[in-house]
Amino acid sequence: MSAELLKTLIIVITVSIAIFRVILNELDVRSSAQALSGKPSEDTVKAVAYTKAKHRFENANILIQMVLVLCFLIFGWFGQFQQLIAANIQGQLWQDFVFLISLLGGLFVFGIPFSVYRTFVLEAKFGFNRTTIATFILDRVRGIIIGGLILVPLSLALLWIYQLIPTQIWWIAFIILSLVNLIMFAIGTTVILPLFNKLQELPEGELKTKILKLCQDQNYKLKRIFVMDGSKRSSKTNAFFSGIGKSKTIVLFDSLIEKHTVDEVVGVLGHEIGHDRLGHVKTIFLLNLIQSFFIFALFGWAVQEPALSQALGGNGVELELALIAFAMLFSPISFLLGILDNSISRRNEHGSDIFAAKAYGAKHIISALKRLGIDNLSNPKPHPMYVTVYYSHPPVSQRIAHVEKMVKA
Ligand SMILES: [Zn+2]
Repeated sequence: MSAELLKTLIIVITVSIAIFRVILNELDVRSSAQALSGKPSEDTVKAVAYTKAKHRFENANILIQMVLVLCFLIFGWFGQFQQLIAANIQGQLWQDFVFLISLLGGLFVFGIPFSVYRTFVLEAKFGFNRTTIATFILDRVRGIIIGGLILVPLSLALLWIYQLIPTQIWWIAFIILSLVNLIMFAIGTTVILPLFNKLQELPEGELKTKILKLCQDQNYKLKRIFVMDGSKRSSKTNAFFSGIGKSKTIVLFDSLIEKHTVDEVVGVLGHEIGHDRLGHVKTIFLLNLIQSFFIFALFGWAVQEPALSQALGGNGVELELALIAFAMLFSPISFLLGILDNSISRRNEHGSDIFAAKAYGAKHIISALKRLGIDNLSNPKPHPMYVTVYYSHPPVSQRIAHVEKMVKA
């Protein structure tokens, strides 16, 4: 395929995906408004308004991003930038490195005004934001330092290997990045998360006693239960499972404990145990591994094709340009893979809900889900297509209906 044709294809893909995403958001806004018919509760009115504000902001974000990417494509800015670096920096490895770091840096800076608006305007308007300006800035600084400590040596090592054996890079990169991913998942809650949040062992009391009893009943060995100061940034509630083997940890947001009854929190914890017990963590990891293997293999095959680099304004085969062009060409497939991953994730969520309902009582799970939906202003009537594409968790109403159907309260 010629470079010119490839460039046109990339432009068509970029515009199509952006338009599709905007339409989905609009469909979801309209669908949520249907929840206002009759006499809606105050919570429903607020949730519908939140859905609308969030999606309109996302749409602005999508369209601005699309215009910027189109400028880079149409005016050949990627290639010009690469040539500018090549003219001023000695050595292929450092040229590639500076290009990639500048690109990441550019994306980071570009994202800041959107984050500021989301945190201090949008989330604040609906009473979620608790992030101070100091926390916001500190988060970014810490992010740069930790990201740098991981990304700089990693990318230098990969680029160095690419210089030596360019045709083998795809499987070597696959192995190295998969290992890094695994290590991050294993040590994330013990090493990375404490750099951003305060984690404390769950204190003695009714909640801990009931949790330990649940673990005993289920013959489940839980190493650590942490309470995280999620309320430092947002009043939204959450809980998650992380780690492998000895590092297995369940993290509960302090806001979750604050807003729910003890039995509801135990129910949520039961749900998290369910994810581990039912092997969800392993299956998702394996699925990601298989997907990334094929993506890397495909990239390894495509990278040597000069048209890929030339489509972005490069002269010959340029790794960094090929990488961007590949990511853009591949985006419809990654969009579809995202839909597949979400559908598996939604099935897992139902599975964990049932696990928790059987282990601790359906009524606690149902009341916990109701509270979660209200507190986080979930869209009361999401559009089915939006759910299919984006929802990693089924809508609250579906989760409750599923528990009611499968388990007697
Ligand atoms: Zn879950």
